[in-house]
Amino acid sequence: MLYDCIVIGGGPAGLMACNQLEKHLNYILLEKNDKVGKKLLLTGGKRCNITNNLSVKDFIESLNVSHKKFLYPALTQFGPKDVIQFFNSRGLELELEQNFKFFPKTGKSSSVLEALLKGMDEKRIHYNEPVRKIFKQETSFLIETDKETYLTKQVIIAVGSNAYPSMGSSGDALLFAKHLGVLYKPFTPAETYLFSNKVKTEDLDLQGVALTTQVRINQDKKTHPGDVLFTHFGVSGPLILHISEIVYDRLEKEPVTLFIELTEQDPILEFNQKRTTKDMVLSVLESMTSKRLAKKVLDVSGIPNKRVSDMKKTEVEALNRLLKAFEIPIDRVEVKEKAFVNAGGILVDELNPKTMECIAHPGLYFVGESTDLQGPIGGFNITIALSTGRLAANHIVSKG
Ligand SMILES: Cc1cc2nc3c(=O)[nH]c(=O)nc-3n(C[C@H](O)[C@H](O)[C@H](O)COP(=O)(O)OP(=O)(O)OC[C@H]3O[C@@H](n4cnc5c(N)ncnc54)[C@H](O)[C@@H]3O)c2cc1C
Repeated sequence: MLYDCIVIGGGPAGLMACNQLEKHLNYILLEKNDKVGKKLLLTGGKRCNITNNLSVKDFIESLNVSHKKFLYPALTQFGPKDVIQFFNSRGLELELEQNFKFFPKTGKSSSVLEALLKGMDEKRIHYNEPVRKIFKQETSFLIETDKETYLTKQVIIAVGSNAYPSMGSSGDALLFAKHLGVLYKPFTPAETYLFSNKVKTEDLDLQGVALTTQVRINQDKKTHPGDVLFTHFGVSGPLILHISEIVYDRLEKEPVTLFIELTEQDPILEFNQKRTTKDMVLSVLESMTSKRLAKKVLDVSGIPNKRVSDMKKTEVEALNRLLKAFEIPIDRVEVKEKAFVNAGGILVDELNPKTMECIAHPGLYFVGESTDLQGPIGGFNITIALSTGRLAANHIVSKG
């Protein structure tokens, strides 16, 4: 049989593509697992942060990738507002959290999967069929799995990245790309933790300390605002996850130190104002930051806890440096397999932004996290998967 389209991979990108193909074309979905949406079920602490409340422009501006404008056509057709509408129309209400992220009102990622499955004929899903090879023929493609060889006019590759391979993301998009001569960037970690031996070996013992702050990477002018959490191995928290992709790239070229601001106040001014009082150094530090950080700053400085009036200018300056730019040298980034998301994938130069079709191979599409498009935490990645999957399928349907 010659299919109109074969979708490979049943994550949000592939399932959304199937929703668009349904009723129009003769298609099947090939999924390597015994279930679809295994990773989707894990997302957002099993509650699935589907999207956010940003405009398309702000959504794109929030991405770290330099070629982020590639996403304009996809997101203009199906951006955060459309995602919300789509799920509402499937009977799934979403609710806003922290005035930013949308989760299903049910509190369950499984309702997102159910809503996606509602729009397709499940008989079209072939489970336990990992695709091994894709061969291009003159006007069609041969898709080889462990069980069968299929013939199709068009293929949508939605196999994800290499993050959390136990959920099915084994990085196969790059194997297919290599075989077909499509250019890609190897997958690397994004949205993950940073390790610092200093935190471990010097027993900085800041585990559990959380702060809303600004972080500078090396001597960069740019600072990154957000929440940081100290852990037993290094640093985590939304801000750290967001910059992990940048830190990974920098570590390939040079050592990386994070400079973390521990107080918004001006320590020099604070100490100078206390010079005429009997206040102790530690109590002034505590007035500017948390008790634990204050003690740690004092320990690291080596300055005894004495009266502020007895402090030397150099001591005030040393504490100012520690409070405004607490140094955490970074040794490594969590590996790509344990990262929530991967950077890298099919280069966007290889794809038409209006269709996600491979420029060199008409009829072949790459969508979702298998492409070099990813975002921070906050519903960006599922939105990108849904939006690009939909764009490719709509183009195929429009061709008839
Ligand atoms: C723990 C965790 C929490 C997350 N939370 C969020 C969140 O709350 N919000 C958010 O926006 N993003 C979140 N993400 C990221 C998000 O899950 C992914 O970006 C998204 O699932 C990518 O969708 P996809 O369809 O491109 O790929 P995937 O979801 O990875 O789906 C790919 C599918 O292809 C199948 N497959 C792979 N290779 C083959 C093959 N050779 N043959 C056949 N099938 C194959 C896989 O089994 C899988 O079903 C989270 C990720 C993780 C790991």
